[in-house]
Amino acid sequence: DREESFGIDESLKELAQLADTGGLMVVGSTYQKLPFPNPRTYIGSGKVSEIKSAIHALDVETVIFDDELSPGQLRNLEKAFGGDVRVCDRTALILDIFNQRAATHEAALQVALAQMEYQLPRLTRMWTHLERQAGGQVKGMGEKQIEVDKRILRTQVGYTNAGKSTLLNRLTGANVLAEDRLFATLDPTTRRVQIKNRKEFLLTDTVGFIQKLPTMLVAAFRATLEEISESSLLVHVVDISHPLSEQQIEAVENVLSELDVSSIPKLMVWNKVDKAQDPQKIKLEAETREDVVCISALTGEGLEEFCDAVQHKVKDSMVWVEALVP
Ligand code: GDP
Repeated sequence: DREESFGIDESLKELAQLADTGGLMVVGSTYQKLPFPNPRTYIGSGKVSEIKSAIHALDVETVIFDDELSPGQLRNLEKAFGGDVRVCDRTALILDIFNQRAATHEAALQVALAQMEYQLPRLTRMWTHLERQAGGQVKGMGEKQIEVDKRILRTQVGYTNAGKSTLLNRLTGANVLAEDRLFATLDPTTRRVQIKNRKEFLLTDTVGFIQKLPTMLVAAFRATLEEISESSLLVHVVDISHPLSEQQIEAVENVLSELDVSSIPKLMVWNKVDKAQDPQKIKLEAETREDVVCISALTGEGLEEFCDAVQHKVKDSMVWVEALVP
């Protein structure tokens, strides 16, 4: 049903944005409705010819499919398109981007592992078993030793491009890479935040999500995401100006539900209110909802309220932590 609320057009738009993030120039897109995918070429033979003509007319180098292709389909399509045309799928594209953007050794290892996991089921059908094994390795390899007071560590999560880095920069004056691209943030960045005379806290920015995020990537980044389970507060940053913000919220919630973090207090931040079509309406709606603050990381609007909400929430969770200490 996720597929239904997130339609073909939106999915292709996001795919185009992913391709752009991966450094490709998108020259066109197309789709076909079939009762079931063609086992040999995924699309029908007429569509193959149509794309082949477009490849020649537009001098196309890469054809990306929005669904996962079997190794056989991949080979057959490359053969059918001919020449040096590269055929790949959404998962391979995402892995490429992660590869380009892995800034630390740890992230690079996680990506390498995810790439292996992508290859493995193409060699054998023992997919879940291998995924489990590999997942265990990541945890051992990737455990991070951040020396922090766990009681005040918070992790923010959000959809990719929601404005997490911008918010972090705005709060700390730090210079974290903020780009209008997907997955600018792969490695968690932790910053100390102190605003006016409020208590200091630590803020960690974590990897963003997209629709149809391959499960293997969630598994590979489990070590990174597991920091979430040690947080005092989970801040979910949403680009509220995005027409699909509701589906994006759902995508993040889906990943979170796989991580067993239901006991951690949560705060939802509706960011980019300056860019929203009807900011007034959104602000009013946020006011009626507990656990939602409305901000603009760009203009600074609502940041005071955000910090107040954080202090309030963290105070509650500290009481909870202290209650566990004999
Ligand atoms: P991240 O992927 O969640 O870390 O997102 P970024 O912080 O990199 O922001 C993605 C894009 O949104 C950048 O181009 C930012 O300048 C822009 N952006 C972030 N916050 C706001 C905001 O409050 N208002 C507007 N208009 N743009 C924003």
